[in-house]
Amino acid sequence: MLLFKLKLIIQGWTNLLLDIISDIKYKKYFKARYEICKLCEHNKYGICDICGCVLKAKTMSEDSECPDGKWKTIPETLEEEKRWPNDHLFEL
Ligand code: SF4
Repeated sequence: MLLFKLKLIIQGWTNLLLDIISDIKYKKYFKARYEICKLCEHNKYGICDICGCVLKAKTMSEDSECPDGKWKTIPETLEEEKRWPNDHLFEL
């Protein structure tokens, strides 16, 4: 469990750093997650008060999940996106 959490943290921060120098895969999904976090009551100055993660990095870890299930409103992959053609939330 601790190793998995460490993997998610490394994954998120790596993607955040890579995003500065190039366009990363899944960028629009990460952006959609972050838009949800920005409006969430659990967002306390950029940190989720449920899991304690820095949201800028957490939202960019493809294997992370929202502990309150709020990211379930967005597709996670291109395959899922095709099944959600009318989802207005995803149009950022
Ligand atoms: S990860 Fe989930 S619970 Fe935490 S701030 Fe984002 S939307 Fe809210």
